[in-house]
Amino acid sequence: MSKKIILFLAGMLVCLNVLCWKEVFVLAKPGYLLVDFLNVGQGDSAFIRTPEDYKILIDGGPDSAVLEKLNKLLPFWDKSLDIVILSHPEKDHMSGLLDVLEKYKVKYFLWSGVVKDDPENKKLAEILNNIKKPGRNFLMASLGVREGTKVLEASAGEEIKAGSVLIDVLFPLENVAGKELKNSSNDACVVNKIIYGKNSFLFTGDISSVAEKELINNNSDLQSDVLKVAHHGSKYSTSDIFLSAVKPKSAVISVGAKNTYGHPTPEVLQRLEKSGIKVLRTDQRGDVKILSDGNKINLYK
Ligand SMILES: [Zn+2]
Repeated sequence: MSKKIILFLAGMLVCLNVLCWKEVFVLAKPGYLLVDFLNVGQGDSAFIRTPEDYKILIDGGPDSAVLEKLNKLLPFWDKSLDIVILSHPEKDHMSGLLDVLEKYKVKYFLWSGVVKDDPENKKLAEILNNIKKPGRNFLMASLGVREGTKVLEASAGEEIKAGSVLIDVLFPLENVAGKELKNSSNDACVVNKIIYGKNSFLFTGDISSVAEKELINNNSDLQSDVLKVAHHGSKYSTSDIFLSAVKPKSAVISVGAKNTYGHPTPEVLQRLEKSGIKVLRTDQRGDVKILSDGNKINLYK
């Protein structure tokens, strides 16, 4: 093979490599918080990287699409997450997380602890039992990972510090761990605010206007720059009074391009428009990436 061809092939490889790792370089920007609302179809999943490089995942969407996203966002050797938060144990938020919990080493798992009698929730209980154990398998042990995942039950008033970023738990107002829910767990969602400097992001899971009212009556500090719109834009959430309390500049709707629920509903889109809030939809934009330097937020994509 001539020298020219070898040089050309080597150049091609370098270019391909740079393209592959472009996402990683962008995410690794020092001094920035990155909140990446992943396009996982009809469901929720957001990947957060703090300035000190803590990796946080909130919900995992309806299927293994989240694994493909994480594979692109993290180097192939990195199978660890610092904090995983499950808003509530419903399929469109939890199913993908089951895969993540099995394949990634997770330091902290935060959820409400509500119990539901269905196969998915039984599987979650089984996985949590397993990952809590130290040195759970040969692979983890050989990587020097001996500690098991710490499982935390969320309730209002709790705070988790991840370097310069604060995770402020606003809901449920009381500890609901072990409580059995017959129907939907939407109004037992973990609602939390991610705060970095002057910027904040409010994650609402699938709460309805009933829980929104409880949050307001509790005098929760809801004001945030970015609102993750509850329940994919259902008309039973995102009430006018809630929007007045949150006062977001931008609202992200995580929703599938094809869904049978009619999400996002015209009612919610109108309420957001009336309040002059910029709407960012995963079905239209794909992943929605927002960067904060602690003073102002910028839409990366
Ligand atoms: Zn949902």
